[in-house]
Amino acid sequence: MITYDSKKRILIPTKVINDSINAGFGTKRLGDGRKLPTIFRFLEGNKTEYGHIVIPQQIHSANVEVLEKKQTNKLIKVEDTDGVVTKDKGIVLTVITADCVPIIYADKEKGIIGISHNGWRGSLKRLVQNVIHKMVGMGAKKESIVVAIGPAIGGCCYDIDDDRYYSFLEEFESYADKIFQIRKGKRHISLAKLNYLLLLEAGIKPENIDVFPFCTKCDAKRFFSYRRNTKEKYGEMLSYIVISGS
Ligand SMILES: [Zn+2]
Repeated sequence: MITYDSKKRILIPTKVINDSINAGFGTKRLGDGRKLPTIFRFLEGNKTEYGHIVIPQQIHSANVEVLEKKQTNKLIKVEDTDGVVTKDKGIVLTVITADCVPIIYADKEKGIIGISHNGWRGSLKRLVQNVIHKMVGMGAKKESIVVAIGPAIGGCCYDIDDDRYYSFLEEFESYADKIFQIRKGKRHISLAKLNYLLLLEAGIKPENIDVFPFCTKCDAKRFFSYRRNTKEKYGEMLSYIVISGS
């Protein structure tokens, strides 16, 4: 389940968290995740024990990096990357999104965590499967990995042009009836659904995947949306996961 914590102003992926793993998908009420003070204020306000904050550059790639504790900087910016994983304590993995799909991963038994920013390009390039592959390489077991797919633009609002449609169709023809829909004569795609199917394909159990069901563009009260907010005030939501400790 993904539940709302009104005090923290984040959505909590209940399958992922435990006594030592802390994770959440930020809402608009938390503030703009692009601004560092939002992240610091949030972590300190919640008494999260941490040593480093990891900020991937988010270039719409399928690249995944492993983070280790031998870093000295408090703030670690990771270039050319849309997915980050770690098994060390005190490393806060973050992404920011406003319509793209934030995804949080954990093998709680092995203590291996990950997060990714999945836009249309990352989804097309199967970024989620690269994250799973990386985690398994570090010792995670596919059957015990739990995943939460966070707030993203829904199939209701995400229309795509013909070029993009045919790129997806070519890659995922067998999923066509599940991921596409036509609304008012336009083709739409659900990236959350596609990423869910890609996780199943990678061997993740359906009962270990939670999907947040509402759309960031439809729900203006809780979420920033790139497509809705381009002309007005725009921000991005912070999502994070950390194994507490330092
Ligand atoms: Zn919508």
